[in-house]
Amino acid sequence: MSKQPLTPKFGSKVHLKDYDPDYCEDLDKKTAKKEEDQLEKRLAALQEMLYAQNKSALLVVFQAMDAGGKDGAIKKVFDSVNPQGVHVTGFKVPTPEELAHDFLWRVHMATPGRGYIGIFNRSHYEDVLVVRVNELVPREVWERRYDDINAFEKLLTDNGVTILKFYLHISKDEQKQRFQERLDNPDKHWKFSMGDLSVRARWDDYMSAYEDALTLCNTAYAPWHIVPANRKWYRDLVVTRTIVHAMEQMGLAYPEPKEDLSGVVIPD
Ligand code: ADP
Repeated sequence: MSKQPLTPKFGSKVHLKDYDPDYCEDLDKKTAKKEEDQLEKRLAALQEMLYAQNKSALLVVFQAMDAGGKDGAIKKVFDSVNPQGVHVTGFKVPTPEELAHDFLWRVHMATPGRGYIGIFNRSHYEDVLVVRVNELVPREVWERRYDDINAFEKLLTDNGVTILKFYLHISKDEQKQRFQERLDNPDKHWKFSMGDLSVRARWDDYMSAYEDALTLCNTAYAPWHIVPANRKWYRDLVVTRTIVHAMEQMGLAYPEPKEDLSGVVIPD
């Protein structure tokens, strides 16, 4: 299988079978780990500048099939970052109050304010994924949502939010192995639910729904990144690299002091 670009070409239809979930550019784990450590240090420094500058925000969206590694990537990639500057939001089955509003209401409330990194563990994309596959709303309702999402993401970027969206791409075989590991380890049982198997049974329908989301909502201002995720260490490296690269473009710097501090003497 040929290597596909991390970000699909804007406007071209994504076929996930063209993306190799095992791809790791011939890197080995040890080399990757070294790069990962350096990048994580840089990420911590950039996050501090983002916070100090208090001008812009970063929103990182994670989507994946069950056991795709959303929790693991969030834990690893951000483990050096000051937790005060980061908000993680996991999106579950909507509550009655959330359902009484438009689908973006709860999402908008969770977007990061200036100076912050917001992390979405699942996101508004569930409303064109699980909702579509399980026919929770009629087709004409979910079909409109791609445009709504693009408009929403444009609004955010126009207001100083840099958006990075990651689809962690695992194979169906890899999911089976990871489920089996959860079943074999009592400490991991809490991560498994029978519902995961009914979602797995609709794998192809989910792939089609993902392909549409990755195609229709892949914009220059909020691009998708399709991350080969069968190898956890490569997944984390790609995500960290992408975040650091994006933050390097954000013009982050420590703010100038509001007054001249050069002659300040601290009294005894
Ligand atoms: P996770 O699998 O993310 O660790 P859970 O096991 O609690 O956490 O799963 C959250 C569930 O909520 C998933 O099955 C997901 O598909 C579902 N969900 C999230 N957003 C929506 C939505 N808008 N409509 C319906 N179901 C949703």
